[in-house]
Amino acid sequence: MNAYLLKRLVLDIVYPNRCPFCDSYISFDEYFCSACRDKLSAPPEQEDIQNVDFFTAVTTYDDYSIPFIYKMKNESSGYALSAAAFMIFQSLLSSGSLSNIDFITYIPMRRKDINRRGYNQTKLIAKELAKLSGKPCKAFLRKTRDAKEQKTLSAKERRENMKDIFAACNIKNLYGRSVLIIDDVCTTGSTVSEAAKVLKGSGAVFVAASVFAKTAMLT
Ligand SMILES: [Zn+2]
Repeated sequence: MNAYLLKRLVLDIVYPNRCPFCDSYISFDEYFCSACRDKLSAPPEQEDIQNVDFFTAVTTYDDYSIPFIYKMKNESSGYALSAAAFMIFQSLLSSGSLSNIDFITYIPMRRKDINRRGYNQTKLIAKELAKLSGKPCKAFLRKTRDAKEQKTLSAKERRENMKDIFAACNIKNLYGRSVLIIDDVCTTGSTVSEAAKVLKGSGAVFVAASVFAKTAMLT
């Protein structure tokens, strides 16, 4: 048994593993019941996202995935975060794109937002994905200012809202490398597009993005 599974086994003794969809007890090495996983809808058809060379989503942002996403953002137990990482890992494996990736990174949050929530969920997903995939996770982005809540904005306003919101860090590791950005939910793609632009501007040659849920295109 590897160190990662051993950790899950030990954790299971203290906090018995539960399915993040239905809360029933599951084995320490499972992430969800297969029946619950099967209820997730396929992701919507994806249009190209500027600056992003490759994109995967696990599911559609809909009535079934929304309560799970809420858990990901608000429950410190971590079952939903681990399950999201595992499902993103599966989507990358089936796309065959994982072998091209040098580093995993994530959409950053501002310190005050992390303090309010207690954690940055995309960072935790990226770290778990790093353990599953054996690819290193590294912070390459920082947020330069606050953004307005994207929910009420049009696609054009979202792009404006995200413009120049990220700056690159740890640049010496980026040059000539392929990077995978992790985010939880993708709506118009303006966040991952802006993040990819910054990574490429600092020398990354290939930028992929994987998210848990993608909304169907805005009407
Ligand atoms: Zn279940």
